[in-house]
Amino acid sequence: MKCPVCGSDCIEDAGVVLGRLPDLFSPCDQCSYRVLDKNAPLPDGKYTPPCRCGKRFIDEVYAHLYVILVEEGVFSGKEPLRAVGSPLIHPGVFTAAPPFLPEDSLVLLSPRVTVPVAERFVAEVPEIRGVVRSGDFVPGAVDPTLEKSPRTYDLLAGCDVRAGIFPTSAGPLVIYTQQSLIHIEFPRPRNPKIESVERRLKEGLPAVFVDACAGNGTLGLCAALHGVGKVILNDAWYAAAYWSAQNIHVNRKALKVTGVTTTLSYDEMKARQVSREPVLVAETEGEQDVSVFFGDYRELWKVLPPGPVCAVLDLFDKSDMEANRRIMKEWRDRVPGEVFIP
Ligand SMILES: [Zn+2]
Ligand SMILES: [Zn+2]
Repeated sequence: MKCPVCGSDCIEDAGVVLGRLPDLFSPCDQCSYRVLDKNAPLPDGKYTPPCRCGKRFIDEVYAHLYVILVEEGVFSGKEPLRAVGSPLIHPGVFTAAPPFLPEDSLVLLSPRVTVPVAERFVAEVPEIRGVVRSGDFVPGAVDPTLEKSPRTYDLLAGCDVRAGIFPTSAGPLVIYTQQSLIHIEFPRPRNPKIESVERRLKEGLPAVFVDACAGNGTLGLCAALHGVGKVILNDAWYAAAYWSAQNIHVNRKALKVTGVTTTLSYDEMKARQVSREPVLVAETEGEQDVSVFFGDYRELWKVLPPGPVCAVLDLFDKSDMEANRRIMKEWRDRVPGEVFIP
């Protein structure tokens, strides 16, 4: 599958990604490492290159990045190591110990990085996949009313497409995303939102499951993995709807589907940015019917099948209880069945 960001083969089938996992971030018996204090500057201004096995301890990769930041004049040499930025490993998986990074396994999020620095990171540090300049805001469509335009971080060099592994009780899901465009979900040993969906599915599989604010599609795909016959994913933000569709394709071998048809290209969706009216952008062939709409969840009732559905509303901000009640009531007034916030 060709990557829409870099044109290379970043997107792999779930089985391929999972097959590489067991020792992906483990050292070989020749790997050396030093643990650096993240709250102090790099002590000696030096770094060691990767091991012959191709991996390097994450702190040593950070030392390499730090040296470049000093050479380029972005750092004075007095900044703590953690000021380099946030590491997002690919594929993102919960690791009990800090990882030994293979080639192309790190997307760096950094507020300080410049274009020349980012280009050197990608060219000279083999572990780096992509460099994103982050800001003090959450990227993506975080306002459910869509009144505030979504904001994004800037991909400065390389590619920011990466996968996360999300365990479910029906097996793992491999979920790709584009890190400059959507808020970050760190892999954790327990995922309360997946658990919330699974608690509902345990009561009996609904005929139709709707993931109305789908993001990258994790909750809807969780329902599909558990065997729900008809699953509808929806998001108003182009990146979310696009990657939801990709993620059906990535995980298709774990589902009862024979193929996925998409109706809008990445560039067509990107040109629209946000869609209010729900537009069908992907659907599956085969025993299970999984589809993706690109639109405002408040308009989704127009395209839902007749009859009751089980809907999950994964709103970005769940802290305003009054707003949650209003949103749930609004949904119930239009759509028969049940609705819950995970
Ligand atoms: Zn790519
Ligand atoms: Zn090694």
